[in-house]
Order: sequence, then C-alpha cells, then structure tokens
Amino acid sequence: MSSDVRIPVLQVSSEIYPVLKTGGLADVCGALPDALARAGCDVRVLLPGFPAVLEAFSHRREVATFSLPWGEQAVVRCGHLAGVSCGRGTVMAYVIDVPGLFDRPGNPYLDAQRRPYADNHRRFAALAWAGAHLAAGIDPQWSPAVLHAHDWHAALAPALLKLWGPAAQRGVSSLYTVHNLAYQGVFDSFHLRELGLPEEAFRVEGLEFHGRISYMKAGLYYADHITTVSPTYAREIQTAEQGCGLDGLLRSRRDRLTGVLNGLDPKVWDPASDALIGSNYDAANMQGKARCKLALQRELGLERASRAPLFVMVSRLTEQKGVNLLLEAVPEILRQGGQLAVLGSGDTELEQALQRDASANPGRVAATLGYDEALAHRLFAAGDVTLVPSRFEPCGLTQLYGLRYGSLPLVHAVGGLADTVVDTDLATLEDQTATGCAFHAFTGSALQQAVRRAFALYRRPRDWSRVRQTAMCQRFDWDQAGEHYANLYQRLLAHD
Ligand code: ADP
Repeated sequence: MSSDVRIPVLQVSSEIYPVLKTGGLADVCGALPDALARAGCDVRVLLPGFPAVLEAFSHRREVATFSLPWGEQAVVRCGHLAGVSCGRGTVMAYVIDVPGLFDRPGNPYLDAQRRPYADNHRRFAALAWAGAHLAAGIDPQWSPAVLHAHDWHAALAPALLKLWGPAAQRGVSSLYTVHNLAYQGVFDSFHLRELGLPEEAFRVEGLEFHGRISYMKAGLYYADHITTVSPTYAREIQTAEQGCGLDGLLRSRRDRLTGVLNGLDPKVWDPASDALIGSNYDAANMQGKARCKLALQRELGLERASRAPLFVMVSRLTEQKGVNLLLEAVPEILRQGGQLAVLGSGDTELEQALQRDASANPGRVAATLGYDEALAHRLFAAGDVTLVPSRFEPCGLTQLYGLRYGSLPLVHAVGGLADTVVDTDLATLEDQTATGCAFHAFTGSALQQAVRRAFALYRRPRDWSRVRQTAMCQRFDWDQAGEHYANLYQRLLAHD
C-alpha cells in the first residue's frame, strides 16, 4: 500500500494486550495497530472503559457524551494507551466510559462465579454504539473511513453502521473479524428495542438467530467484509460441522470472507530478547534453553532431568482445547519417560482432573491453575513439546510461540494449526520442512500415537535438533497480516 494514503481505521475490541487479556484476541488487537501503521494506516482503537483500560489511558480528552438507547449516559474519551505501540508512539485510543457497565474488577465478561454478566447485551451494545457515534463523526478531530470490529463483543457496530441513519449517511465501511465462531453473544429478542435496534433487523436476513438476537450474526450479516484468523478456519466455518449454525450465511458470503493468518509479535515473543525468561537463546545457541528447562523443573517441583522430554500446554481449560484428550494421553507421556507442565484456567472439572494427575505423579506432572503471563513465557522457553490438541482452533497462538521457542508443537491438524505446523514424516524430514507433529482424528488414541512419534523423534537427537532449527526459523509476522488487512480496507474503500 502506498504510504501517502493513510486510511483512518478504527479497531473496536473488548481486549488489547498488554492492557487487558483473556486470550488470543488481546494478542491480535495489541499487535495490529503497529502492523497497520507500518502498512500505511492511521489507526485508532476503541475499547470499553474497564478498570485496566482506564488505568493505562493517559492525556484524556473528553470527546463527547451521548445517550445509550436505554437512557444511560456514555462519555467518549480520547488519549494514549500505555504499552500498545503504534508507529513511533503509543496508540491513540477512544474509551467509552460508563462506570455502571464497565467498572467491575476481574474478568471482563464473567462475574466472580464465572457466570456471564446479566447485562452483557447492554455492555457490548454500548461499545458498538460508541463505534457508530465515532463513525458518524462525534469527534470533530478524527473519524474513521473503516471500522474494524473484532468478535461478538464489537459485532453490533457493523450492523449499526448500516441501520442507524447518522452513521449510515457517512458510508463508513466495516470489516468484521471472527476470532472464534463458537462465542456468539446471543440474547433474548425482547432486548431489541432497549438496544436501539430496529424491528426490521430482527429477521433471518438480519441479526435474528432462532428467535433470538445474535451479535455474531449481526457482524457476519452486516459487515462489508468478513475475515477470520486462518485460511483453513475460513473454509471450515462454511461447513455444517464447524459452522455453529451460521455456515449457510457464511457460504452465502464466501466471496466476502477471507482468512488472514495471525502473526506473532517478536517484541513480546522472542527467546533471544525475552525479559521474562531466565536465559536467552536463539537457534544458533541453544544453551539458554537447557538452562530454562532446568530452572522451570526446579520452579514447578519436577524432577531435574534434562533428558526427560518436557511437554507443556498453556491454554484455557475447556472442551475446545482438547483437555480431555490430553488427560487420556498423560499415561503415555509418563510411560515413555516424559514430563508434563500445564498452565491454564477454565472448567472446574478439567482443572480438578489436571490437579489429580499432578498429585498422583509428583515430580512428573505439574498443573498451575490461573493466569500467569510470565510463567507462560517460561514454559515455552523450557518445553520440548507444546501441546495444542484443540478440537477446533481458529488460528491458535501457542503453537506459534512453541515454534519460535523451539518447543515443538504437537497439534490437532485443524484451523490455524493445520496452516502453521508441518508434521514430521520421512519426506518432511528429508526436505527439512518438518516443524512439529500433527494428528488428524480427534481421538485419544490419535493423540497418543502423535505423542509416541514425538518421543521417537526426540530419541534421534540429530533429527530432533534439525526439526527444531526449522521450527525456530519460521516467521509468522504481523507485517504480512497488516498488509493483508490494509489491502482489504483499500478494496472496501474502492467498493470492490
Ligand atoms: P484462545 O484465544 O482461544 O484462548 P489462542 O491460542 O489464540 O487461544 O491464544 C491464547 C493466548 O492466551 C496465548 O497468548 C496464551 O499464551 C495465553 N494464555 C492462555 N491461557 C493462559 C494462562 N493460563 N496464563 C497465561 N497465558 C495464557
């Protein structure tokens, strides 16, 4: 894209790394502003006024206030967001400040009992309304030509750009990125009026989904273009199996649906410069990795065995992430002399099952429950194998971190996992394209078979280090993704 045309783009999301993160969405939204700036865009972000966001927010200018459809007052502020780089400085951010909706500690979506907040429909409609007001020109100093909404939390924004007169008149284009189709934001239909949505939107050709309001569907239906986070997932969600009931709509919009693979932010994820790991290393000098492994074994109470392959997993602990399959594979990992270290939080049953495995196998299995960014870095640095046995995976980031840190990914070959990991077999060993292990059937025995293959490879040190070298040299960078998005914005503006 030529640098003299700087497209003003508003990114709308509920999370942004390093300010607020519950998953990969934050990593992506935190890396995109800089990548898009490099690709020639004039990027700003819009976020809900969660406590963590307000804390990182400085030089606030009050842009405007507006009334939400249910009567609450919203203040839109503008300032810089610490920690999120964009070009030569930090990103310019708009924040919708409504303390009654957003001033709550902890998880942005769930209450202390891990139940979705009862007013989530209002909270994320408010975010979308702020996007629509900015598109309608509420800030005299800046307005977007493209609104880029991420996941269901922001998905009403593309709908409002079409349905709400003041925004519709401005003709701002919209792009909607699906980071995970399974989380849809579906609410009772009686909220329609309260949210300021017109009756005409509540139909199959609109945001109605089995008699309810679907924010996800609103994004998919009304956005000018849809992207998802890997080419394979873009195909998979058009099938009944993985379409979560929206495959028909996605098929009908397939010429407006693109897979753009996520990248990895080397400022955050690079074993050569990572300040969160004890010893730095790179593909040419791996001694630091061996030290990281011993340090982690000590930290987690694992046996200090440099030659025991260490399997790591950093993940939300949910059915999607294949934790049940992993539980079935633990005996095989131990039988072959390996160790397992898991960091995650999620479903209570899965958390307890992992804890049981850890107590039954002291020194061999460690389960750390909770969220710990620094420990995640230490795990990738220490690990030999990064497990990602997800049932489905839109893109997946931990396999990318595993590649970069030489902790070979062992993945279920779906979605972005299929797009980023090359299974090791005789042919890929020979042509030096192998970067990990992949299995195809989503079964415990297929995972165990892949685990066996990982051990077999580990016992061939020359092959192992060759695969690891190839893995560490893979580049999934944001520049490529940034260019791709910038080209899509240009197409939208050209009404292509
Ligand atoms: P998803 O967004 O579906 O959770 P991704 O693989 O796309 O999965 O992204 C997950 C991100 O969250 C990665 O950056 C991973 O390291 C991080 N992560 C997941 N669970 C934890 C945890 N318990 N502690 C620290 N980081 C975590």
